[in-house]
Amino acid sequence: MAECYFCGVRADTAPAWVTEFYRAGGECVREPTCPTCAAVLLTKDENGAFVLAGADPVKEAVRRVAEQAFKWPLEARKSDRLDFHEVACWEIERALTAAYRAGRAAR
Ligand SMILES: [Zn+2]
Repeated sequence: MAECYFCGVRADTAPAWVTEFYRAGGECVREPTCPTCAAVLLTKDENGAFVLAGADPVKEAVRRVAEQAFKWPLEARKSDRLDFHEVACWEIERALTAAYRAGRAAR
């Protein structure tokens, strides 16, 4: 059974999962990454290798995870309707876990 390194989701078979990516410093990490986390947190470099996204990987991971999980940006838009949202606790747990693990992987 594979468990996503970032969000912790599990799958019995995970043939499409990314198993290897590079931190910003160039270190290779070999951990299973589910398709959702791969799409949100990783980009492909010129050689086709997966790399943690962004110049500041922690900030970029938090921004991308929030936008993927909640479907709205983290920037304040000075409107109660746009700045306050109803969110399920499991969505918060998954987003925080993925952002934390992405930050840890970026170090
Ligand atoms: Zn994941």
